[in-house]
Formats: sequence, C-alpha cells, structure tokens
Amino acid sequence: MQKTADYDIIIAGAGAAGLSLLWHLLNSRSEQIRNTSILVADLSLTPSNDKTWCFWDTESMPFSDLVHHTWNRLEVKAHGQLFSGELKHHKYHCMRSVDYAERILNLAGARNNVTLLETGIKGFSSKNEGALMETEKGTYSATWIFQSALKPPGFDRARVDISLMQHFLGWEIETNTPLFDPEKATLMDFDIDQDNGVAFMYLLPFTEKKVLIEHTLFSPSLLTDEQYERGIRTYLKNVYHLQEDDYTIRRKEKGVIPMEDRRYSTEWCDRVFNTGTVGGLTKPSTGYTFTRIHRQSADILEALEKNQKPVLDQASGYRFRVYDMMLLHILETHPGISVKIFRELFKRNTFDRILQFLEEKTSLHQEVAIFASLPYMPFFRAIWNTKQRILTGA
Ligand SMILES: Cc1cc2nc3c(=O)[nH]c(=O)nc-3n(C[C@H](O)[C@H](O)[C@H](O)COP(=O)(O)OP(=O)(O)OC[C@H]3O[C@@H](n4cnc5c(N)ncnc54)[C@H](O)[C@@H]3O)c2cc1C
Repeated sequence: MQKTADYDIIIAGAGAAGLSLLWHLLNSRSEQIRNTSILVADLSLTPSNDKTWCFWDTESMPFSDLVHHTWNRLEVKAHGQLFSGELKHHKYHCMRSVDYAERILNLAGARNNVTLLETGIKGFSSKNEGALMETEKGTYSATWIFQSALKPPGFDRARVDISLMQHFLGWEIETNTPLFDPEKATLMDFDIDQDNGVAFMYLLPFTEKKVLIEHTLFSPSLLTDEQYERGIRTYLKNVYHLQEDDYTIRRKEKGVIPMEDRRYSTEWCDRVFNTGTVGGLTKPSTGYTFTRIHRQSADILEALEKNQKPVLDQASGYRFRVYDMMLLHILETHPGISVKIFRELFKRNTFDRILQFLEEKTSLHQEVAIFASLPYMPFFRAIWNTKQRILTGA
C-alpha cells in the first residue's frame, strides 16, 4: 500500500551534499527553519569510512572540529623536478566521511522534526504546490526537495563534448618505520607510468608511519583494481624502498569523479532541485566538490530563511567554465603535454595562487599571469577546437 507523508523539506541522498544541507538547516539562525519538518532518505544511513574529502580554506568553515588532518606544505613532482611550498594564505585539510556523517546524523537523531528513512529512491515529480519523492517504501511529499541521489532526467542526453573521469584506488597503510612527513601532502607525483592516461600518486601522510596513497588517473576508462594496486606497490618500492612486509594495508578507498563539460540541470522539476555531484557541483578540471557543496547549502539556507525560492546557479562563472573546458580538452587530446603544463604551473606559481585559482577566486589579471606562465600552443589549440562552446556560453 502506498504511504504518503508531508514534510516541509525532503533531503533525498544523505552523502556530502544532503548532510551539508541538513546541517545548515539544523543550525539556521531562524527558529522556524531549525524546526522545519525534514525527511532525510538514503539507501543507507550508517556512516562509513569510504571517502576522505580534502579541501582548503582561508577563513573559518563549518565542522572545523571534524578536520582529521591539516597540511601546511604541499608538493608536486613532475619530470624529476620537485616543487614544494609552504602555504601562507591557505591550509589543506581532510575530513573523513565517517566523522562527518556521524556528527550530522547524531544531531538529526536528537531532533524530533527530522525523520530518517532508509529506502531506495526511485524518482521525483511535482504536483500543485508540492513535490513528490517516490521510493521503495512509498511516496512522500514536501514543499521542497533537494536531491543528490539520482541523475536527473535528460542527464544522458545533455551535450557533452569532453568526458573524462578522475578515477583512483588508494591504500591507507602503516609502515614499520617512520618515513613520511605529516606536515606535507603530495598533491601530484607524476613520475609514474603514464601509459593509461595522465596518472599520478596522491599522498596524504597522517603520521610518520601512516599515509593514504592514491593511484589516480585523468582518463576516459577505468583500470582494474589490480592495475591501480600494482602501481601503488611499485611506487612504494621505487620511492620508499618498501617491500610488501614493510607495511600493513589498513583500509582501501576507491572513487570515480566525473570530469566533463556537461551542462548540468539544477532543477529536476518544479520544487525539486539537483544538488551535489548530480547537480553539477564537481569542478570539471579537478574533481574538487566538497567546498562548493557547503557554499551551495549556505545559499539555499539564505533563500529559505528569506522565504524565497532557492535559485541554484551554475557552480562556475563563464570565465572559469571556459578555463575548465580548455584544460579538459588538453587532458583528453594531449595527455603527454598535460604533465608538462602541470609542471610549469607548479614551477612558476605559488601553491597559494594555484589554490586561489582552483577555488575560482582569482582576478582576471591574476589569471592572465597564470596562463602566461604555461606553454601557450596547447591552449590556442583548445580555444580553436572548443570555440563553438566558448561562443555559446561554455
Ligand atoms: C572516494 C572519493 C573521494 C573524494 N574526495 C574528494 C576530495 O578530496 N575533495 C573534494 O572536493 N571532492 C572529493 N570527492 C568528490 C565529491 O566531493 C564526493 O563525491 C562527494 O561525496 C559528493 O557528494 P554528493 O552528496 O553529491 O554524493 P554522495 O556523497 O555520493 O551522496 C549521494 C548519496 O545518495 C545516495 N543514493 C544514491 N542512489 C540512491 C538511491 N537510488 N536511493 C537512495 N539513496 C541513494 C547514496 O547512498 C549517497 O549517500 C571524492 C569522491 C569520492 C568518490
């Protein structure tokens, strides 16, 4: 039998985006919003340690006490050259999905205006003044639905000229002897096998003996688990002289993040919004999404506090959509040149300036200086080949 429930807000999908919005609503300065009735639905509401989210900040941020580790120095290696730098204006943090979900779901569990529902979500529609969510346990209605669970209708028909993935498999290992510097994260070490696409190792040392090392690629096709793992094993042997019995694998982490020039739709239908990755919040050229999610949650909250309809803008402005498209084009068509571009980027610019650029907070003047530091031919070719998209709003 079909069950019907009425809520002010349904949060469909309780991952990074859904829980961020929930946290913002429960901490609203408006009493009315704090007490609004909310249904949170997900296939599983048991927190799991399956994602390590990294991000950087210049100012205070929500959940700062949940930060698992912070690095003040970053490094990149390419073509045998090492670029290492102290962060003066940012800090590079990571948060574990298990800590984040536990905190927010515990907060929600203590509020009697929040209902938590484990179920499979099937779709959404709108009717009169409300929005409907269809699930395996029935249909639920609300004034607004924010969904981060399903690809919206038309997703597969949207124009996509460049479609790559950032894909990775990582090991969190503990070594028998101290080897790592917990003050310094390696964003990219390109000095590994580049046969399957632009590839690098990403290292997040938590202590001198504990590190998360991820074998990452920007490419159109995935590797087998054995290929990612062989890469990690070889790297640990070549760079740190570690044999397999010199370390213990504590945990594995795997992910695929879209790197596409797809135009995302932020509304499923009237009163149903797409948020998170399926709402286009992933920055196409880097895969970073976490900070954008919290920014969008703050914007949604602001609209609801003013009793207005939320307006979910495209995650990036025109200029940065063009830059992302050019970078994706180069990654797709000239993977070999891409490593050279990353090398020059980190050689000729400070880490702070690069993080500011990736966060889309640079001025046009600063962006011109960054591009002037890079080999220009690949960018001219990219502009020429993507000119139609550039001229039609990217
Ligand atoms: C392993 C990994 C590491 C990442 N690291 C970073 C990082 O360091 N920095 C960064 O900025 N970004 C990172 N990202 C990218 C991005 O931040 C994450 O993917 C983030 O989790 C996206 O949030 P989301 O809410 O859109 O999706 P998710 O967190 O995946 O949440 C979607 C939720 O929807 C639920 N769901 C899906 N289908 C259904 C259904 N049919 N019915 C019910 N529920 C459903 C899922 O169970 C899930 O809980 C990473 C991604 C991965 C996969």
